[in-house]
Amino acid sequence: MISYTLSDEHRELRETVAAFARDVVRPVIGGYYERAEFPYDLVARMAKLGLFGLPFPAEFGGMDGDLFALGLALEELARVDSSVAITLEAAVALGAMPIYRFGSEAQRRRWLPDLCSGEHLAAFGLTEAGGGSDIPGGMRTTARLEQPDADGAAGGPAEAGERAGEWVIDGTKSFITNSGTAITSLVTVLALTGGAPGGPREISAIVVPAGTPGLTVGPEYSKVGWCASDTRELAFASCRVPEDHLLGPRGRGYAQFLEILDEGRIAIAALAAGLAQGCVDECLRYVGQRSAFGHQIGYYQAIQFKLADMEARANGARLAWYDAAARLVAGEAVKKRAAIAKLTASDAAMANARDATQIFGGYGYMNESPVARFYRDAKVLEIGEGTSEVQRMIIARELGLPRSG
Ligand SMILES: Cc1cc2nc3c(=O)[nH]c(=O)nc-3n(C[C@H](O)[C@H](O)[C@H](O)COP(=O)(O)OP(=O)(O)OC[C@H]3O[C@@H](n4cnc5c(N)ncnc54)[C@H](O)[C@@H]3O)c2cc1C
Repeated sequence: MISYTLSDEHRELRETVAAFARDVVRPVIGGYYERAEFPYDLVARMAKLGLFGLPFPAEFGGMDGDLFALGLALEELARVDSSVAITLEAAVALGAMPIYRFGSEAQRRRWLPDLCSGEHLAAFGLTEAGGGSDIPGGMRTTARLEQPDADGAAGGPAEAGERAGEWVIDGTKSFITNSGTAITSLVTVLALTGGAPGGPREISAIVVPAGTPGLTVGPEYSKVGWCASDTRELAFASCRVPEDHLLGPRGRGYAQFLEILDEGRIAIAALAAGLAQGCVDECLRYVGQRSAFGHQIGYYQAIQFKLADMEARANGARLAWYDAAARLVAGEAVKKRAAIAKLTASDAAMANARDATQIFGGYGYMNESPVARFYRDAKVLEIGEGTSEVQRMIIARELGLPRSG
């Protein structure tokens, strides 16, 4: 039996993050957003709260929490602002989580404490210009394993059992969150490590530290939303990393990525539920202040019904991510529930952002209004970590329907 009752720890965490979002983020985030500036000071304060270590064990510097705890933090942050929320989501669910899930003991001890502390951020490099939905088909980035020759220099062919070689990575990754901040320390890259042309392709995950020669970090994209978050292109040209930077077994990268995205989708659903609820919060404030035709606009049933629909959508979004997260924490398979949560919560966020902007009228169309930020931030929730079409494809397959063209 799955329970959605929050424990005392979860409740306390939610209240702490809600207060932080309200008192620390809300007063200043509009300025960062308009300047498209990464909010280093806010991220440092999130780090002090322990948010970057939430779902990881204390032995790696984490907070001994779970995905549910991360979801609660994301929801409360996104209720005020999605840029700081996606910075946390990408750093934890996409950046550090693959190392925790698939890394060796040595890799975990080497990289996780720093990431859990929030002093440094990790990124996840999956998407390429050739396609983010069809990963195996669209991937062009390669990683070739070179073993040292007799003189000790890398260059000879790989020998089984040797661990002293180097991966040589070539290719380009697009739209990578947290990939170019001053505190980014590594990116986990998915690359083709073998497979015959036209046949099955071997995909592996490899950790590339920031600053590795051959890795070029592109300029920040000019984005519609998430403007105070960091999103860049990464180019790899004969970029060499030690052989022991391979995460998990060679050739398991695609399966690993599918598992990571199940968790990531629940996290994005929590973020979307927060945005949907934030729209209600802002509108409840506004309809009590704004008057038209002799009444506060909250007096009119057309406005009340909009708000009732918005509250219902936010509630549905929350239940959807609670359900998926609680099942994941209980060890159940969650592929379908994670897709349902992401699909329904991102739909709710989009619909609430549209209605909130309408309730705010002309002011809602001004960038300085909080609902304008919600409007600009909602759309990407239907795109990132699997588009809404991809979520529908997953749900249809889980229902046993055939793969369609
Ligand atoms: C702000 C931002 C941050 C991001 N951060 C990251 C990150 O940190 N790491 C990372 O790896 N990626 C990141 N991404 C990339 C994101 O995950 C991809 O954009 C997304 O998965 C979609 O891939 P695509 O853009 O290549 O679209 P495409 O795959 O080209 O899809 C184009 C359209 O076709 C549709 N489509 C595709 N196939 C089918 C089908 N079979 N049936 C029906 N419709 C289909 C899609 O749903 C979509 O509407 C980010 C993107 C953005 C915008």
